[in-house]
Amino acid sequence: MSNENLKTVLQEKRTFQPQDHFQKNAKIQSMEAYKEKYRESIENPEEFWANAASELHFFKKWDRVLNAENPPFYRWFEGGKTNICYNCIDRHLDSATRNKAAIIWEGEPGDEVVLTYADLARKVNQLANGLKKLGVQKGDRIAIYLPMIPELAISVLACARIGAVHSVIFAGFSADSISDRINDCQAKITITSDGVWRKGKKLLLKNIVDEAVKKCPSIEKNIVVKRSHKDHFECAMDENKDIWYHDLIENCSLSCPAEEMDSEDMLFLLYTSGTTGKPKGIIHTTAGYMLYSYYTSKYVFDLQPEDVYWCTADIGWITGHSYIVYGPLANGATCLMYEGAPNAPHKGRFWEIVEKYRVNIFYTAPTAIRTFMKWGEDWVNKYDISSLRLLGTVGEPINPEAWMWYHKVIGKERCPIVDTWWQTETGGMMITPIPGCTTTKPGSATFPFFGIDATILDKDGNEQDTGFLAVRKPWPGMLRGVYGDEERFKNTYWSQWENIYFPGDGARRDEDGYFWILGRVDDVVNVSGHRIGTAELESIFVSHASVAESAVIGIDHEIKGQAMVAFVSLREGNEGSDSLIEELTQLVIEKIGKFAIPERIIFTADLPKTRSGKIMRRLLRDIAEGRAVGNVTTLADAGVIDALKEKYQED
Ligand code: ATP
Ligand code: MG
Repeated sequence: MSNENLKTVLQEKRTFQPQDHFQKNAKIQSMEAYKEKYRESIENPEEFWANAASELHFFKKWDRVLNAENPPFYRWFEGGKTNICYNCIDRHLDSATRNKAAIIWEGEPGDEVVLTYADLARKVNQLANGLKKLGVQKGDRIAIYLPMIPELAISVLACARIGAVHSVIFAGFSADSISDRINDCQAKITITSDGVWRKGKKLLLKNIVDEAVKKCPSIEKNIVVKRSHKDHFECAMDENKDIWYHDLIENCSLSCPAEEMDSEDMLFLLYTSGTTGKPKGIIHTTAGYMLYSYYTSKYVFDLQPEDVYWCTADIGWITGHSYIVYGPLANGATCLMYEGAPNAPHKGRFWEIVEKYRVNIFYTAPTAIRTFMKWGEDWVNKYDISSLRLLGTVGEPINPEAWMWYHKVIGKERCPIVDTWWQTETGGMMITPIPGCTTTKPGSATFPFFGIDATILDKDGNEQDTGFLAVRKPWPGMLRGVYGDEERFKNTYWSQWENIYFPGDGARRDEDGYFWILGRVDDVVNVSGHRIGTAELESIFVSHASVAESAVIGIDHEIKGQAMVAFVSLREGNEGSDSLIEELTQLVIEKIGKFAIPERIIFTADLPKTRSGKIMRRLLRDIAEGRAVGNVTTLADAGVIDALKEKYQED
């Protein structure tokens, strides 16, 4: 098995060392420095996190760093008083950062807004006062259903400023998904917009909210942002319930003191993306989350004062919460925010934006990278993207071939890649390279972040090379609960082992101690006693020049226990054929072995994905096993399922 072409996560051997030009200015420049800091963080976590927290502003210092008396209900920085909005904005207003761009916004049609920290302060304060005028109080829940426009970041920060709990609902969700979430948390107010530009078309968001709130008796008022005073988005206003955002803030004062929040006061609720079932309302609180999003942003993105940083996620997902709004702003960074789709009006849109704003740090998802691969590198090469110095990914395991493409075509073999493993529940990055010091391997998230005691266990809690990912120590950014469902919180995350966090992902550790995330536990397939992560087989398919994406699932099999079925979508200009099936089968034999040959390989134009772009393997399993398709409320394009069902039956 010494073939140089063995490029799967099973045999991936390529390594990439930090390059001098990056390393020499990096915050952490050597593996020794990382190891020393990591050791401190694990041996003396309370001292470590107290030191880190002293970089932020507390109105009153905490009495105790960690209260672990009643696991899994951990409490961080008890007795402290702080405000995350204050730390993201006010903290910077007495320095030169005051007049630095906080948010650079680009609309899909090309409109632009730049807000300095001082501008952002005014806008957030005004809206905070507007919310107070509507009677919003500390602890009230506010549902935000806004597209990626500056008012989304402003709304989130305004809620945090007055202690209202925001629950952002990604503005691609249907009316039913919205009402489920609103009813779960009993929100009092919604903030939405008349519309948004999506792929050149006007999407009328307010109509969707109107539909949703018919079923939400808790909603008292809808605040409506006018997306554009130039383009008309049709929007009916109910004079009792609806109020224009610009009217609401019109006479509001530009100053609103930040509420002094207890460290453990609830900051926000966020429903997980629903890849595995009914979304859960994940609870995050103030001080610990603030510190963790701040500290991970600082080290993993190696933020430098002059950087323009762009995370392409939507603020409707945790990635946008932690790494568009809170983490970068707490660091005083300049964040780019883009309203639209990567192919609007053309497939080079992202690279055009990188060129235009000289973006230095770019953080995206494997699904996006695979899409760019599918479109071909000519779209990238039209633009000067030489400003990039660091690349990141999050959301799914990244196939080594997609990693290599990212490295070569986007990073020009110059930019480190941080493959960051984490979850809505973890608040911030957990397993990730530190770009100035970690030697990376394509497809591996490498090592734990500071303070993260990650390991791999079997179901009885014994350490293994391959098994379940586990986190043995509490960390500041951890979830504090599932809204209104304590049992679900305990059962989902804390019942596998005692006082050890169970993320629900499979993982493997190689001989150098690198972590390789294999996918969700229920996506690990057991074929004739061999445990295969679906991600491994998918990566083999994606390493074939014709393949863009693949999803592999396990189905019951009389003899083998489980067998695999592979769904494969091809890069532009390729077609599925028997000879391609043969080539793919040969690849599997070569790279894993005969036992791993899928029962079927099915070519498909698209794969079912959540609205956050993750492959929904459980729906594919439902199709393959002929069951009624499970919870699809978070599916991005329901048509994909019907097309696949047809395909599955005809083949
Ligand atoms: P739900 O919990 O509702 O099923 P979800 O797990 O997709 O939805 P998120 O919290 O957005 O919701 O995603 C976290 C999951 O994404 C992780 O548990 C893991 O499976 C996957 N993931 C995230 N980053 C990575 C990464 N770098 N490598 C591998 N997998 C990743
Ligand atoms: Mg999850």
